[in-house]
Amino acid sequence: MKTAIYPGTFDPITNGHLDIIDRASRLFDNIIITVARNPAKSPLLSAEERVFLIEQVIADIEGNAALTVEMFDGLIVDFARKRKATAIIRGLRAISDFEYELQMALVNRRLFSEVSTVFLMPHEKYTYLNSTIVKEVASFGGDISNFVPPVVEMMIKKKYGG
Ligand code: ADP
Repeated sequence: MKTAIYPGTFDPITNGHLDIIDRASRLFDNIIITVARNPAKSPLLSAEERVFLIEQVIADIEGNAALTVEMFDGLIVDFARKRKATAIIRGLRAISDFEYELQMALVNRRLFSEVSTVFLMPHEKYTYLNSTIVKEVASFGGDISNFVPPVVEMMIKKKYGG
């Protein structure tokens, strides 16, 4: 059984994240989506809300992997070790992601050599998408229905009083 973890803030989960989870679910048996509370980023949604939304939207993923969602604060390699995960999944959208991701991957490998970071590229139509832009558009009352699933759209709109 091959277990991978997919760490992130997911504030909120977007169609880009879902595209990555969909691809990963064809490669691994178990995927643990790991939600960091990440207070440093002052998230719009609580960690509980982010977990709730992820659980709602991953139900539609068709791959064969067992998908679970967990909150975790701390070193991602400690979590990987605890769960016997052999891979950390990260999405690569553009060269701009690369430098930071390479550094993280090499540090994580130094800390725990049995885990490999696996980079997956989303469909081109999601390369411009991140959680920040979704929140920015929504904060001005813009339409985010092409960026996130309906249940996420509803919660984000509510947060901005829509
Ligand atoms: P973090 O706070 O770790 O950057 P995010 O929730 O923003 O967490 O993202 C988690 C992972 O998902 C990262 O590897 C990021 O590159 C990837 N990701 C985010 N948006 C997209 C997207 N539109 N397409 C592909 N991967 C994405």
